[in-house]
Amino acid sequence: MPDFSIGVDLGGTNLRIAAVTVDGQLLDKVTLNTKVALGPDRTIDEMCDAIQRVSTTHKASGSFRGAGIGVLGIIDIQAGTVRKSANFPGWEDYPVRAEIERRLRACALLENDASVIIDNDGNVAALGEQWLGAARGVDNVAILTLGTGIGGGIVFGGKIWHGMNGMAGEFGHVTVEPDGVPCGCGNRGCAERYASASAIMRMAREAIASSEAPALAKAASGAEFGALAIYNLAMQGDEPSRRIFHTFGRYLGMMLAGAVNVLNLDAYVLAGGVSSAWDAFAPTMFEELRQRSLVYALTVPADALSSNSSEKDAMWGQPPLRQAQGRLSAVQAEQSSAGAAAASMERKTIITRALLGSDAGLFGAARAAVLAG
Ligand SMILES: [Zn+2]
Repeated sequence: MPDFSIGVDLGGTNLRIAAVTVDGQLLDKVTLNTKVALGPDRTIDEMCDAIQRVSTTHKASGSFRGAGIGVLGIIDIQAGTVRKSANFPGWEDYPVRAEIERRLRACALLENDASVIIDNDGNVAALGEQWLGAARGVDNVAILTLGTGIGGGIVFGGKIWHGMNGMAGEFGHVTVEPDGVPCGCGNRGCAERYASASAIMRMAREAIASSEAPALAKAASGAEFGALAIYNLAMQGDEPSRRIFHTFGRYLGMMLAGAVNVLNLDAYVLAGGVSSAWDAFAPTMFEELRQRSLVYALTVPADALSSNSSEKDAMWGQPPLRQAQGRLSAVQAEQSSAGAAAASMERKTIITRALLGSDAGLFGAARAAVLAG
């Protein structure tokens, strides 16, 4: 049996752990009700106990190759610490990686080439989607997580690109409107002020305030009012709701056009809850991309637009697993069947939805530990 590693998702609410073989088979997945608020010592005790339990269960499968911890926050990769995170007050300067290594050594789990890494959750999610998800089979990938804001991560040559000190991949804070909406980062007009769940809510409030969006106003009085309700209205043809997603797609396309021009990656994967509104924003996003990026226009897949309509049956919250995988493998088949010299010119820029959901970070963290070993 192949060796395995452990991926950990250290989020704000719970702690998830997965054992994954080096060839990408999921052996085990557990969720702990760890109270992060009780402090780093307790959290890391419980994490290491769980890593030990899971690893002991699968010892017969192969050797333990290490553990990767994906953390929601700004990480100092070299020091192995959490520099800043709203979810982990009091963790600053706590030696997270060193303490995990110490505990795993104490139970004789960490030996030989096994390693412990900590990284940002967006980075490990990018690696997960590149390894086993929507961008499987290509080496150069960016992930954009569309949630309350826009998270990001970049994989170059099959490895996480951290930049100088781990701050690479901040797609959400690229300016798309010079004098636009103020952002928490101090800038104005950041992409995430126009293409995120909070942006959808802001645009809905503005539409309601204009008294020209009766359906939105009616929905806003309901308890369940959120981005999903606005998406449903848009798909039912409500014009003000449709406009919100067109604006969303336009700014997202603008930001992606810049990324495609600069990075020329194989794939850009859209993840996060709001990526499920693909049907509502993708047409304007692709239109904007083609207009604003010559690199994209020269590498646009033949089915970039038709793939949108073929995904109409994909519902909010359900990743379009087969469609996205099918599209990527079709493009790869096209690429591998072409002559070697022509192939590099024939490669297409894939922009697609994520496949692995919240598991991307678990798989990516497990992968990162093996790559570091
Ligand atoms: Zn910003």
